[in-house]
Amino acid sequence: MMTKGVNWTAQRRAVFDIVQASPDHPTANEIMERLTARGHRYAYATVYNALRYLTEKGLLREVKIGESASRYDANTHEHAHVVCERCGTIAEFEQALPESWMNDMAQQTGYRVVGAELVFRGICPDCQRVATTHAAPGVERD
Ligand SMILES: [Zn+2]
Ligand SMILES: [Zn+2]
Repeated sequence: MMTKGVNWTAQRRAVFDIVQASPDHPTANEIMERLTARGHRYAYATVYNALRYLTEKGLLREVKIGESASRYDANTHEHAHVVCERCGTIAEFEQALPESWMNDMAQQTGYRVVGAELVFRGICPDCQRVATTHAAPGVERD
């Protein structure tokens, strides 16, 4: 992890600790609530600035899913997300993209591809259980 040159203020450390302890990809508001629950009293701008700083330093990833608020991720490895269309829960899919995709894309577009933000949509296991009364067509069961 690139921690070189990071100016760890108490606020940045606290914000980073919260995100690292939160596998659910919290929004800035949720991070704010968790900080408060731990007894921190930071202004929203302080939290927001800390998030932006940590993202710029590569310690956090900002995840944009549709039009909802940015979410923050302490997992900076290459991974895809799948979001539940019913409840918004996000799961991670830890697998590198097939290299052929990158190569084909580079060939077709002429771009040098350096990364990807992949978001899949689906129905999470909990919602599938709840939705047995009217199972959505196309949802795979096993
Ligand atoms: Zn993630
Ligand atoms: Zn769900």
